[in-house]
Amino acid sequence: MWLLPEAWRDLYRVLNQIDLVQVNPDVSDQVFWKDGNDLNNFSSSGVWNSIRTREADVDWFKIVWFSQCIPRHAFLMWLIMRGKLLTQDKILQWDFARRKNMNMMCCLLCYADVDSHAHLFFECKFSSQVWCSVRNKGGMASVGSKWDTIVAWLSSRASSKSAINFVSRIVVATTAYIVWQEQNARLFKNHARPPDVLCEIILATVRYKLMGLKFKHTVRVRSLLDDWGIHGDSVIDNGG
Ligand SMILES: [Zn+2]
Repeated sequence: MWLLPEAWRDLYRVLNQIDLVQVNPDVSDQVFWKDGNDLNNFSSSGVWNSIRTREADVDWFKIVWFSQCIPRHAFLMWLIMRGKLLTQDKILQWDFARRKNMNMMCCLLCYADVDSHAHLFFECKFSSQVWCSVRNKGGMASVGSKWDTIVAWLSSRASSKSAINFVSRIVVATTAYIVWQEQNARLFKNHARPPDVLCEIILATVRYKLMGLKFKHTVRVRSLLDDWGIHGDSVIDNGG
């Protein structure tokens, strides 16, 4: 119950400006959060949502974050879309790199070019080979190796909840993740794997993900799962 001692009115003059509060002793106190004219039950998420700054939605968020995405792959996709990976083209812009004459760097996947976002995903001869080997499993056989082309293709289908579009997004994110992982393995561990090994890892990762999901029974989904060598019961809540 909210009863203010009378002496507080002398101590804290501001209390006199408050309208007389009618206290109902039979009702327990509740905490509310006022956001503009809205009065809501207090929750930390509500507070966060009213104090955080908001940017306009980017048109690509659905191809990065979606139900049943693989979180670490989605995070890398987000970094790629924001152009935030530390690629050689960026390092070469540093004064430090110029002083150290680091312009001798080359892409560790193809040894033919300096790596950049566009190069790694997937214009590089090495990563293009990987992409071209896995894309048909994601229903993207006709989609070229340029990142902008891939993103445009995915974006035009981003609102679709069909199983094949889910697979397309998962295949792209997994391929990007495994290519970036390979680049790092060569840089930090001096450990190189050929494109066909990467393809096997990508397909096994996607297949494992699909096996853990429940799909709606439709002819198209059945044929899609057959194509991935997944048989048996898989009934989904995540789209048909
Ligand atoms: Zn390369």
